[in-house]
Amino acid sequence: MSLNRRDFIGALAGATAVTSLTACGDKESASPQTLAPMETVEWKMVTTWPKNFPGLGTGANRVAELINTMSGGRMNVKVYGAGEMVSAFEVFDAVSRGNAQLGHAGAYYWKGKIPAAPFFSSVPFGLTASEMNSWLYHGGGLELWEEAYAPFNLIPNPAGNAGTQMGGWFNKEIESLADLKGLKMRIPGLGGEVFERAGGLPVSLPGGEIFPSMQSGALDATEWVGPYNDLAFGIYKAAKYYYTPGWHEPGTSMECMINAEAFYALPEDLQSIVRNAMKVVTLEMMSEYTAQNQRALQTLVDEHGVELRHFPDSVLKELKVLSAEVVEELAASNELAGRVWASQKAFTQQVTRWTNVSEYAYMRARNL
Ligand code: CA
Repeated sequence: MSLNRRDFIGALAGATAVTSLTACGDKESASPQTLAPMETVEWKMVTTWPKNFPGLGTGANRVAELINTMSGGRMNVKVYGAGEMVSAFEVFDAVSRGNAQLGHAGAYYWKGKIPAAPFFSSVPFGLTASEMNSWLYHGGGLELWEEAYAPFNLIPNPAGNAGTQMGGWFNKEIESLADLKGLKMRIPGLGGEVFERAGGLPVSLPGGEIFPSMQSGALDATEWVGPYNDLAFGIYKAAKYYYTPGWHEPGTSMECMINAEAFYALPEDLQSIVRNAMKVVTLEMMSEYTAQNQRALQTLVDEHGVELRHFPDSVLKELKVLSAEVVEELAASNELAGRVWASQKAFTQQVTRWTNVSEYAYMRARNL
């Protein structure tokens, strides 16, 4: 027998009435808490991405959607794109102060406040996406990240990873390090510092300004993310060569920070839902990027005539030396940054031994 909607609601009301009677008659068999009228916890999530931006913005939306669904409506998270409630770079302060309870961003944006922050997103020539997750969840990384954010009333969480990025868009071929000299390139973070040491002129620009700057000639070169996001911005219309690999961002971890007071005010089941929604999004985002990047790469090369190029080994070797200098100097500049880098560096050295005989050895075999 099937119930129509009215029967179903009637059945539910009956069940509630029975439960209430039981509760009145026998206090031990039902907790008064289960009978309280359902209160919805209203949270706001601010983000550093344009609203609904493919992969990153939609990843933030998914965190909210999963929390709302898994909590059965006990929580309602509303997402605000960059500039809607606060600007992209005000996200950290907004969540720290409790104006919003969640913030979806990238930790490297907060280097000015926390010198160790870039180690929790990506390090040039560092960990890949899956290795990064291993360090964070099973190598002590998340504990260090929590220590770094605690003074700001924030709890950090990994919440997405775009995988290995591309090396960027150029209008001339890069044959030696000298070809980077004087080049004005949009390349933020530690990668930008390395690029500067190589003689380039790094520029930090929000995503939305990349294409117009390439078209007007204000920029000579740019990196953004990978085929999926780069195709969406139309960068191929302003640059001929698409270089690999993304030595500067081998597996950038996105973050979702939580206001600590708001988090600890939640019952334990909702705390678990909030944290696990972020874990789910890490898996979903990595899968989405792999699926979308390969499609977009095909479109770029086959339909738009983009020329793929590899940075020569000699250029990569020199960039690697410069990267080590930049990272070691950052580690030496601050006590916590030093401890975080010591942990990540040791993990990187160990995991490389394993990755070389597992994934790398297999990838090589697959290409024979
Ligand atoms: Ca990038």
